Amino acid sequence: MMRPAMASPLTVRATPAELADRQQVIETEEKIESFPRLAAIIEAELAAAPSWLAKWRQFPVQITLRFGWAGGRREFVSVTGTVEARVAAVCQRCLQPFEYPVREGLNLLLASPDEVSVTAPGCEIWELDDAWLRPADIVEETLIMALPLVARHEDDKSCQLKVGPAAAEREDVTRPFADLRSQMQD
Ligand SMILES: [Zn+2]
Repeated sequence: MMRPAMASPLTVRATPAELADRQQVIETEEKIESFPRLAAIIEAELAAAPSWLAKWRQFPVQITLRFGWAGGRREFVSVTGTVEARVAAVCQRCLQPFEYPVREGLNLLLASPDEVSVTAPGCEIWELDDAWLRPADIVEETLIMALPLVARHEDDKSCQLKVGPAAAEREDVTRPFADLRSQMQD
């Protein structure tokens, strides 16, 4: 089914100045599948995992973006807001798929390539590729950057490795070597 993508300010291309002039606020909920580069990364990550996270493409992405002029001067466009989502990932400890929560606060200054040396305390510089901006690209890039390098269950209770016999065995195997090493150091 085709979605009326052009209706959303998230996916319409606009110049940053236009967005700042009208102090565009985008508050919306999308789905992971609305961000194809992100979805491709997640899909590769899940390739070897069981399928109980089959609905990961439909996981919601909560988006708030506010455009304006930084410091009230019509010089640099600022973007503030939050991007919040659950991302399907595979725990690298127990190899079980799980939902990794992402919540990123945004505080960006948009700058063209010749302006990226600009610094502003507390702000990150977002380099513009061209004169046009598709706000969805900011959301997608933010989510991709927030993906963990090594995903793992944050709490040990959820992590299957802790209760599995493999963990106990491994501890038994490694301890004698550790003891031996400490004896040799004495
Ligand atoms: Zn785990």
